[in-house]
Amino acid sequence: MKPLNIVVCVKPVPDSRYWDRLSLDPNTKLLRREGIPIIMNPLDRNAIEEALKIKEERGGKVTVISMGPDSTFDVLAWAYAMGVDDAVLLSDRAFAGADTWATAYVLAKGIEKTGDVDMIILGNESLDGSTAQVGPQVAEFMGMPHLTNVEEITFVNDDTVNARCKIEGGYMLVEAKLPVTLAVNGEINDPRIPPVFGALWATEKESTKYTANDMDVDEDKIGLSGSPSYVPEVSNIETQRMGEVISGDPADIARQLVEKLKADGVLPEV
Ligand SMILES: Cc1cc2nc3c(=O)[nH]c(=O)nc-3n(C[C@H](O)[C@H](O)[C@H](O)COP(=O)(O)OP(=O)(O)OC[C@H]3O[C@@H](n4cnc5c(N)ncnc54)[C@H](O)[C@@H]3O)c2cc1C
Repeated sequence: MKPLNIVVCVKPVPDSRYWDRLSLDPNTKLLRREGIPIIMNPLDRNAIEEALKIKEERGGKVTVISMGPDSTFDVLAWAYAMGVDDAVLLSDRAFAGADTWATAYVLAKGIEKTGDVDMIILGNESLDGSTAQVGPQVAEFMGMPHLTNVEEITFVNDDTVNARCKIEGGYMLVEAKLPVTLAVNGEINDPRIPPVFGALWATEKESTKYTANDMDVDEDKIGLSGSPSYVPEVSNIETQRMGEVISGDPADIARQLVEKLKADGVLPEV
């Protein structure tokens, strides 16, 4: 079996337990995340798990890569604790404000720097942005085939994988030649809890950091100014709920509810 060089992309995301502290900056139209603890995007733990399983079976190396601020080092420590071999942080003020395209461009340039790669594994989507665009975009920059919503990966031979990809109402089985990019969903595996020796491993390992100067990036393609999409306006939507209690016996409650929904145009009159 041929050992594989696998790169996993991991995104630092604000911990959802603190989302009530997130706010929008009305001037820059960007999300204010200061002071909110960050965690690894949950699906990226599935991506790491799958990479580690493949490495355990076939040999090779697993490298995680992330674009984010220096606080991302804590997220990379978790990846080390899970058992990855190397971690790379792409961090520079010039990368800030990137849309998905500019994010994918920098990630692809960072992946190129790690050497020849056989597989790139990502989460299918992030907890916060959730566009599911970064995986396919990274693959396009790298000139690789890409598969999304992957819930099972099996090897046909050293150069070909078979992936089961979830689609509406079922799944698709797709064969792809390596090198390939796979964006995985949460059904693919149960990510391991880092073992105690993993935590020791994490304290011994140091992540590599690359800034824009260390990378062969075109300055017109990075950060807010290099992003082809922009946010023209943001607004907070005030929602108010009108509580109403319907009483009576269950059949009567159901009848009243249907009448009210018809009156509001939610259900059609028949
Ligand atoms: C105009 C504009 C400005 C923005 N400005 C900012 C900003 O200032 N600060 C900010 O934090 N966000 C900003 N964003 C959001 C930013 O573009 C996204 O967070 C980022 O591109 C990833 O998109 P996503 O979350 O939809 O990823 P998805 O495509 O949903 O993620 C899929 C997978 O891609 C990988 N991935 C995604 N992002 C990264 C990453 N950074 N590093 C490694 N792997 C990754 C992960 O494996 C993830 O599971 C901005 C977006 C726009 C449109």
